[in-house]
Amino acid sequence: MSDNPVAEKNAVEKPAHFLQNIIKADLSAGQVGAIVTRFPPEPNGYLHIGHAKSICLNFGLAKEFGGQCNLRFDDTNPAKESDEYVEAIKKDVSWLGFQWAGDICFTSNYFDQLYTWALDLIRAGKAYVCDLSPDQAREHRGTLKEPGKNSPFRERSVDENLALFEKMRSGDMPEGSCSLRAKIDMAAPNINMRDPILYRIKHVSHHHTGDKWCIYPSYDFAHGQSDALEGVTHSICTLEFEDHRPLYEWFIENLPVPAAPKQYEFARLNLNYTITSKRKLLQLVEDGHVDGWDDPRMPTISGMRRRGYTPASLRNFCERIGVTRSDSVVDVGMLEFCVRDDLDKNAPRAMCVLRPLKVTLTNYDEGKTQTLTAPGHPNRDDLPVRELTFSKTLYIDCEDFREEANKKYKRLVIGKRVRLRNAYVIEADECVKDSAGNIVEVKARIIDDTIGKDPADGVKPKGVIHWVSDSNHIDCEVRLYDRLFQDENPGAGGSDFLECINPNSLEVLTGCKAEPSLAGAQSEAPYQFEREGYFCFDETYSQQAGKPVFNRTISLRDSWAKISQQ
Ligand code: ATP
Ligand code: MG
Repeated sequence: MSDNPVAEKNAVEKPAHFLQNIIKADLSAGQVGAIVTRFPPEPNGYLHIGHAKSICLNFGLAKEFGGQCNLRFDDTNPAKESDEYVEAIKKDVSWLGFQWAGDICFTSNYFDQLYTWALDLIRAGKAYVCDLSPDQAREHRGTLKEPGKNSPFRERSVDENLALFEKMRSGDMPEGSCSLRAKIDMAAPNINMRDPILYRIKHVSHHHTGDKWCIYPSYDFAHGQSDALEGVTHSICTLEFEDHRPLYEWFIENLPVPAAPKQYEFARLNLNYTITSKRKLLQLVEDGHVDGWDDPRMPTISGMRRRGYTPASLRNFCERIGVTRSDSVVDVGMLEFCVRDDLDKNAPRAMCVLRPLKVTLTNYDEGKTQTLTAPGHPNRDDLPVRELTFSKTLYIDCEDFREEANKKYKRLVIGKRVRLRNAYVIEADECVKDSAGNIVEVKARIIDDTIGKDPADGVKPKGVIHWVSDSNHIDCEVRLYDRLFQDENPGAGGSDFLECINPNSLEVLTGCKAEPSLAGAQSEAPYQFEREGYFCFDETYSQQAGKPVFNRTISLRDSWAKISQQ
C-alpha cells in the first residue's frame, strides 16, 4: 500500500528549494563528487513528525542527486540514551521507505578518534582543562551584550593540561569538577565561540561503549568531526544550530580531519495542535497520559504507523510543506489531508457498524441467506471483490434510523425506504423499544428485486446506509481517536501543555460488528469503513481485548474545520 505509485503521483511539483540549488551548484562546480548527507538522531526518544521532515530531506536529497545518506546515532549523552530507542528509530526510518548507506553509524564509534583530536588541540595550545564549576563558568561566559571573562585556568601549560585531561579520562575526578574547553575567544560576539566545552566528566555507562569512557564529548565537538569522518558533504540541521556554524567550521579548520563538510540550516517543522518536543512526548508517556510512545494519538512515527498513517502520506506531506529558512507553523489539517488522500486512493472498502441496531426483515425467510458481492474499491479493480452475506437479521448503525425525520435525513425512517449498500432497498414498518424507551429493533421489509436496481414501483430510496448480517459477521472493537491536544499551540506562553490535552481524544466502542472480509485484516493494513472513515487493525489491542480491534485513522471529512468555526 505504502509504496503504491498511484499515491506518489500525487506528490506536488515544486520549484527547487535552496538546498537543492546549493547541491546542484556544488555538483556542477565539481566542489563535490557525490553528495553524502546524514540523519543524526540522538537515541533518547522515539522519532516524531518533525524528524520525518528531516529524514525525507536528508534521504530524499541523497536519492535525488545519486548520493548516499547515513543513519548516525548521535550518542554522546549516555544518561538518556538506550538501545530500545536505537531499534525503534531504525524501524521508523525503514518504514518511511528509506535505506541508509552501509552500516549504521554511531558517534560513539568515533570516541577514540575524538579523544585523539582533543589531545591534538591541547598540544597546539587550543584547549585547556578548566576547573570552574558550571555556575562559575556561566558567570564567566558573559551575555549577548557583555563579553565574557577569561577563565583563571586558561593559561595552564600544555603538560599540565595533558596530565589533567588524562586524570579526567582515568576516572579520578568527580562529575562537574572540571571540563575540557577550546581556547577560542571569550570576547567573541557569538557566545558559542567563548571557549566552548569539548569534554565533560560523566560517570555513566554508555549503551554502546559500556564503561570504557567516563568523559564524553559535547555535541559541538562530536558532530562536525563525525560528519568529516563519514565524508559527509552537506550537513543539514535545523535553524537553532545556525549560531553553532562558526564553531563547526573552527573545529574543521583546526583539526586534521579527512574532509571538510559544510553545515546548512533549515526551518524545523512546527505543527499546530501537536507537540514535537521529545522531552514533552516522554513526559506524556512517563506520566501515563498516553499508552506508550506508539499510542495512536502520538505524533511519533510509531504512533502514526499504528494509527494507520501510511509512509506515502507522510512523505507526501513532507514534500508539500517544503524546505525553507523561515520558521512557520503548518496546519495539522494538511497532514490529515495527505493521509485521507492516500487512503482514499488505496484503502480497500469494508462495512462495519459501530453502534449496532438490530433490523429484522419480516418478509425474508428465517434461515435463508444470499451471498452478495461488493467491490474492494470503487476505482481499483486490483483489489479483491468482497463477499457479503444477506439474511433476515441485520445490523445498521443506530444513527441511521429515526422513527420520524424531516426530508434532510436521508436514512431509514418508519414508512420510508433506504438502500442497504451493495444489497436491497428496504422499508421500515415499526420499531421495538425497551422499557426505558430505547429503540432496540427495527422491523422492515425488503423490496423485491432491488439489488443493483431501483424499485419497480418507482418509489426510490433517498439514501444509502451500511449494514452487516447477523448470520455472518465479526464482533469487534473500534477505537475512535481525535486530536490529542485541543489547543492550537499546546503550552503556549509558558502554560502547562498537559492542561491542553483533549479529554475526548479516545472513545472505545466495544460492541461493533464488521463484515467477514475484515476477519483476515493484517496489522496496520488500512480500510475505509464505508460512511465512517479510515481504520486499521491493531494487533496489540486485539490481543488485549480478545477480539479484533480497529483504530480509526481519520474520519472521512475534516470535522475540526466546522467545529472551530462555531
Ligand atoms: P527534539 O527537540 O524533539 O528533542 P532533537 O533535535 O533534539 O529533537 P534529534 O534526535 O537530535 O532530536 O534530531 C535528529 C535530527 O532531526 C536533527 O537533525 C534535528 O535537527 C532534526 N529534527 C528534530 N526535530 C525536527 C523538526 N521539528 N523539524 C525538522 N527537523 C527536526
Ligand atoms: Mg538534537
